[in-house]
Amino acid sequence: MNLSQMARSICESPTLKLNETAALLRDKGEPVIHLGGGEPKSKAPIEAVVNCAALLHTGDVKYTPADGIPALKKAIIRYTEEHYNRLAAPSNVIASSGAKQALMVLLHAILDPKDEVIFPAPYWVSYPEMVKLAGGVPVPVTAQDGGFEPTLKEIEQAIGPYTKAIILNSPNNPSGAVYSDAFVAGVVELCEMRGLFLAMDDTYNRLIFDNRPPTNCYEFSHEASLDNSKLVVINCVSKMYAMTGFRVGWAVGAKDLIRAMTNIQSQETSGPAAPSQWAAVGALNGVQSSIESLRLTLENSRNVMMAHLNAIPGVKVTKPAGTFYTFPDFSAYQKDSQKLARFLLDKVRVVTIPGREFGMEGHLRMSFCGAIKELTEGITRIQWALDPSAPNELYMGGHKLVRDWQ
Ligand code: PMP
Repeated sequence: MNLSQMARSICESPTLKLNETAALLRDKGEPVIHLGGGEPKSKAPIEAVVNCAALLHTGDVKYTPADGIPALKKAIIRYTEEHYNRLAAPSNVIASSGAKQALMVLLHAILDPKDEVIFPAPYWVSYPEMVKLAGGVPVPVTAQDGGFEPTLKEIEQAIGPYTKAIILNSPNNPSGAVYSDAFVAGVVELCEMRGLFLAMDDTYNRLIFDNRPPTNCYEFSHEASLDNSKLVVINCVSKMYAMTGFRVGWAVGAKDLIRAMTNIQSQETSGPAAPSQWAAVGALNGVQSSIESLRLTLENSRNVMMAHLNAIPGVKVTKPAGTFYTFPDFSAYQKDSQKLARFLLDKVRVVTIPGREFGMEGHLRMSFCGAIKELTEGITRIQWALDPSAPNELYMGGHKLVRDWQ
């Protein structure tokens, strides 16, 4: 078929694809354990459901302004003031269909062909493809020390004449790393000195463990006025309120930039779905205890996951400081992460996501947003599959598995 070069260069989202594979296998009755998931299993806050249902009951569900309903922008402004200590005006805010769309319209608004966007590896799978979709060139930066946080110097060395923006995602998907304040401060300063846009993807900013406070990038900015700043903060209701299916995210930035993003969004999709926007208003203005209870649940699951993973000899695990992902290094067993993920799915029906998709071979991304029983069972199966000295048989969801590999 005569598809565009662009269409041919864009890969399917591997995480969404694995979700589909897992669902298909489950439908067939296979005892699949899904450690590839990217969403908390808790329910949306009641205020979100009530607000959404109230709109639906009127039957009066219409287009909204392209940058979101005033009530949602107001709630986002309040959120920004409370959590970032920054006063934003409605003209500084755009609500989009998820953080994904907020990022996408941002990239469309700032990139000319061949412009480069730098981000640390490991990175969220979608960054390279999104940058390419907007006509730009992705420039991942890998830490030479093999860790999850490059040095400021490594970031600086990647800057060239075509560099337009840097994206930082902390806490990070897939590593769970929370970048040090010194690193974030350094990148904010670097961007301000070089006139680069900085997109702070704060999707997981409220899901941080061990009493560590969330990073507020504005604290490191020397630019007092939002309208003169090239710093853009991206957020969403998806993870912190467990509202992935509602598809509401937002960006806060300079009014000229937000206007450009709004124009693009108005032509592409219009404003996000009205029921979802009202649900987001409910979540943002309602009782906030669900975030803390999700955070505590995830911290506990993280601890259980760490204890089990650390018991597998040869696997190098870095304790995640936030999110609901961990990114252990399995290269002692298999350096090709796609082969390893396929092997674990085929042999013991455990879904993990290959590190290659996130720009770091030898690792697997494993989620701890599921039930504890699933996590422990999943890791037990992985350990059994990898350990040649383990007993020859394993009971898996009522089936007996016999090892037919070395
Ligand atoms: N940024 C990161 C780092 C993410 O992990 C995700 C979701 N997996 C998003 C953005 C997109 O969030 P949303 O579902 O709100 O589009």
